[in-house]
Amino acid sequence: MKKTEAKSTKKKVSKVAEAKPKIDRACKDKDCPIHGNLKARGRTFEGVVTSKSHKRIAIEFERMIYIRKYERYAKSRTKIHARLPVCMDKEINIGDLIKVQECRPLSKIIHFVVVKKIKSKEEGK
Ligand SMILES: [Zn+2]
Repeated sequence: MKKTEAKSTKKKVSKVAEAKPKIDRACKDKDCPIHGNLKARGRTFEGVVTSKSHKRIAIEFERMIYIRKYERYAKSRTKIHARLPVCMDKEINIGDLIKVQECRPLSKIIHFVVVKKIKSKEEGK
């Protein structure tokens, strides 16, 4: 009798272990500022998405530079490569206005991460 009892308790233990802990399936990206452990800090910029590929986008925006010699301003375009978290992959497309924030360098050219979408292409028209 004692042996059978021991067996039954063991089975119960294994069943409990099988129960999977709840995982947020929205994003498994560790380089996500919301779900992962990537800290976004520093400067923020807003720009239009010009290219998009897997986990990466490029934005462009215009800014004014003062040229002292001519005492005038000139338009200048700045391009920034940013990390696109997996959870925002479907949401953001080329032509959208988005906000990026500085983070630790993720690669040679990427040191920004997408924080949020401001306006989609259709809304802007
Ligand atoms: Zn995420």
